[in-house]
Amino acid sequence: MQAMETNPTDPTPGTWRPRAATAARLGPQATEIARIADKVRHGERICGDEALTLHEHADIVLLGELANLVRLRHNPNPVVTYIVDRNINPYNACITDCGFCAFYAKPKSDRTYELDRAEIMDKVAETAELGGRQVLMQGGHHPTIKSDWWCDLIAEIGSRYPLINCHTLSAPELDHFERIERRPVTEIIRDLAQAGWGSLPGGGAEMLVERVRKIIAPKKTDTDRWLDMHRKVHEAGLRSSATMMFGNVETAPERIEHLVRLRDLQDETGGLTAFACWNTQPEGVPEAHLYPRKSTPALYLRTQATARIFLDNVQHMQTSYVTQGIKMAQISLRFGCDDFGGTMLEENVVSAAGCSNLEAIDDLEKVIRRGGYTPVQRNSWYGIADTRYKAEPVDPARWPNSREEAAFHLAAGKGDYSIVPTPAGSHTAYPEAERQGEGAALSKPITEIRA
Ligand code: SF4
Repeated sequence: MQAMETNPTDPTPGTWRPRAATAARLGPQATEIARIADKVRHGERICGDEALTLHEHADIVLLGELANLVRLRHNPNPVVTYIVDRNINPYNACITDCGFCAFYAKPKSDRTYELDRAEIMDKVAETAELGGRQVLMQGGHHPTIKSDWWCDLIAEIGSRYPLINCHTLSAPELDHFERIERRPVTEIIRDLAQAGWGSLPGGGAEMLVERVRKIIAPKKTDTDRWLDMHRKVHEAGLRSSATMMFGNVETAPERIEHLVRLRDLQDETGGLTAFACWNTQPEGVPEAHLYPRKSTPALYLRTQATARIFLDNVQHMQTSYVTQGIKMAQISLRFGCDDFGGTMLEENVVSAAGCSNLEAIDDLEKVIRRGGYTPVQRNSWYGIADTRYKAEPVDPARWPNSREEAAFHLAAGKGDYSIVPTPAGSHTAYPEAERQGEGAALSKPITEIRA
């Protein structure tokens, strides 16, 4: 048997510690890491260079501790939210040819599909029957489908299923419409909002760094345009979310650069509700040769925790159980995440890249409970949408019920940017009885209704 490894600088001879963790505690970076950690503990904002030092050198346990601390400042209740929703991808024809995308097909390819309206409405009806609150709808960059097609669809969904929000499109799709319709995107956003569009997902961000975008998605909306689409959506009174796809050709400083761009936008508009990240899913994509092997779970946790610490002006952090698996998602709840994202009753995009970790809703809830939290269903604006949640009066400034409430609080500067002090003893206990009530569609296995 191999002898136990001993680090000569460790004060406890014979005690094994991972090299990286020991270096973080005792090595040349230790003083700097301790100084930055103190800043985070005292609620001070850290700069990009400090975030990079933590991201690259801090012990992963310290990263988790600091991320959890920031999580508790923003979301002090022992609650993990999620939304009952469905992904609908109405068409997959796309002219943008991103090398990491296994979902799209070239417009003349025999792999293209386009769902007809009745098919889409059947999926929405099924979501509504399950108590769903959102449909996340995105397509490719279709050469001929324009925003009026989406306005009609959104208006029909709104008139037939008023509880369902269309969390729909993406910054690159808005940019695409501006180009093919040859009119300002502000008009497109206005028309979509008038039709009932409720919020913009954070898709298409990948890595908000031009060097990376030129390699992985050279035809796609650039960084400044992506940010400007979200800025204009916020200016129209709507909220959006932000994402990051890492683990491809980017460097650690570029991951931080992405976070800096998001934090700057949020300082300016305050319109981002949440941030989610995941590693590139490189299997079966058109340019798989460009990508290294799938990155490690440790990198996911380091990236997620760094984002929670650095994005001190974004209230919610979403885990990505579809890409990371449900066990890693549970661990991420101790690395800053307070939200499980959507139930994704149907998911076509990452599953096209060989990644599918969809779970039944009651299994999601079990995993959240076993992680030490109460699962609570939410709406698209992170308002509570769960009849079981009776523990305290729901403050609409923190939990808006509608896009109008979210916009009101955004305009009044009362949104989610004021950090709630961490209560003594941090998590407060919820009576067990409160946890057992009725929730939407808790026992319906998603696999039963997947398309
Ligand atoms: S990621 Fe979006 S824009 Fe890029 S090829 Fe896929 S569908 Fe098209």
